[in-house]
Amino acid sequence: MGTINILSELTANKIAAGEVVERPASVVKELIENSLDAGADRITVSVNHGGKSLIRVKDNGIGMDRADAEACLARHATSKISAAEDIEGIATLGFRGEALPSIAAVSRFTLTTRTNAQETATRVLVTGGKKEALTEVVADAGTLVEVSDLFFNTPARKKFLKSDAAEYNAIAGIFTTLALGNPGISLALMRNGQTAADYPVCDNLLQRIRQLFPADFAQHLLPLEIKKTDFSLSGYIGTPENVRVNRTGQKFFINRRPIQSAALNSALSRAYEEFLPQRRFPVAVLFLDIEPSYVDVNVHPAKREVRIRTEHFFTGIVVKAVKQALSAGGLFPEAASRPVSMSSPDDLRVPGSSENLSFNRLKEAAAGWKTAGPDTFAFDPIKKAGPVPGPPPGDYINRALIEQKRNVFHITRIVGQVLGTYILAETENGLGLFDQHAAHERILYEEILESFDRKTSHGQKIIPETLALTLQENSVMERCLKDLEKIGYGINDLGGNTWSVDAVPAFAPEGNALQAIKDTLHELMAETRPRSREEHMQALAAILACKTYTIKAGRKLDLPEMEHLIERLAARKNPHTCPHGRPTFFLLTKNDIEKMFKRK
Ligand code: ADP
Ligand code: MG
Repeated sequence: MGTINILSELTANKIAAGEVVERPASVVKELIENSLDAGADRITVSVNHGGKSLIRVKDNGIGMDRADAEACLARHATSKISAAEDIEGIATLGFRGEALPSIAAVSRFTLTTRTNAQETATRVLVTGGKKEALTEVVADAGTLVEVSDLFFNTPARKKFLKSDAAEYNAIAGIFTTLALGNPGISLALMRNGQTAADYPVCDNLLQRIRQLFPADFAQHLLPLEIKKTDFSLSGYIGTPENVRVNRTGQKFFINRRPIQSAALNSALSRAYEEFLPQRRFPVAVLFLDIEPSYVDVNVHPAKREVRIRTEHFFTGIVVKAVKQALSAGGLFPEAASRPVSMSSPDDLRVPGSSENLSFNRLKEAAAGWKTAGPDTFAFDPIKKAGPVPGPPPGDYINRALIEQKRNVFHITRIVGQVLGTYILAETENGLGLFDQHAAHERILYEEILESFDRKTSHGQKIIPETLALTLQENSVMERCLKDLEKIGYGINDLGGNTWSVDAVPAFAPEGNALQAIKDTLHELMAETRPRSREEHMQALAAILACKTYTIKAGRKLDLPEMEHLIERLAARKNPHTCPHGRPTFFLLTKNDIEKMFKRK
């Protein structure tokens, strides 16, 4: 009882590794950041098996002499700060001195490094945190770190790694983010020995964006720039046609450090809110540079999050700047000539509140833009399924439905559509109210799941369209290609992150084949949890059923359409809820009704 153990260096490193090294992508992030801090302008990353078997990062930075090469593997060894106060003004990406020892504690680790002043390089070999050898070798100036068999000595962690493809996808994501944040650096990524990306040095951010994103992304951006004495905000935001189904297209950097910030996410949504369709999110690449003492970087072991002092002020700036960029981009011509007034961060009032911009006008202008939202789909999912034209509405008795054996709802008569969204039916013993959108989602969801089980795809041929993807979108595409093909997409790899789409599933809208696929990829990109194959198919079916093709609430349906919808719903395994668990219908018995009227 009560015996306190001082953890050995080895154990302490393993614990730190738990925080810093979650997965191969976190190793890649730490190593690239070290190379950036070392002033490299050429960084090559190689990964095998999603980084599980090998991660290699080579740079041409300042390198280390023999003493530093040995020292850097000790916990809290850092050349970047020397006292706690230094964190206040931190300008480098690293400062904890934890990454290298943490990585070395859970892998077979080799560091080869040489400064320009030295003739020979130092090589340090560490296995599971134990130094094995230190030798002198011939090598280029700069640093090469090789990490093999990540988590070989921590099987519990290893078990939690996802598939090679999923781990690679996370690496592609972090690599892209760091490339975006450092246009002046040349970066290459090798995957299983093949070049996946090679980005030469750029003069500016837009050039880098063009390297990283397909043309349609880079073409639909508006520049944004504010420079003040205490801070500057710059970057690009998407036009309202450059939107996604989630926030995967929003990248923020504070003092060049890539960060995730819910506050900035919602600032963006606020700035666009008047004229984006529901559940669509703008893309943005924004750099906020602030006096370092305004930022607390020491809140997250992996440094993913930062705390901004006077956050409210800066989110206010972002909202205003984004609105101005939109207006300068022609969306709101009048505001463009208005002078910008910005106060200093000491002034905590959010300057230039939205009142002086008329958002009704903005909205009007935006209405003219072609949004990629689902509402623009001209496709008619029910008509396509070919319902027989029914008798005119009125006292319409739905024979087909009533006579069906599968009339699980015991419907005697469809009364009609109410509130443009629900279908009201009389049943043998009361009333039924169906949510047309939820019902259609359920129907498509199960139909898509069923098509996964079929052997042959049954797509409809379309005029081939080219789909250009980012590195990360491309890796998601590789993962779900087979599934997309199974449900009827015809997709061919053209190489260079480009694909050709020549067939779409029977239920898909022809004109929007590419958008539907991109939405699906972005949904899968945002996935954080590993999934079994079955779960994966269910997720994919839910995404496709929900995002793109369903009958929206508010769409007018005629009686044969309503009949057809309820018929198809009745045939489902689980007609009760949409894939997200919302009910598809309510039944009210005569008894319930009589109780409500206090007849009983
Ligand atoms: P931190 O980056 O927080 O200082 P690390 O464990 O990542 O901690 O690195 C420890 C030290 O090793 C760094 O402070 C730096 O001096 C040195 N170092 C690491 N990687 C490199 C590199 N690629 N080039 C030169 N020096 C490096
Ligand atoms: Mg570091």
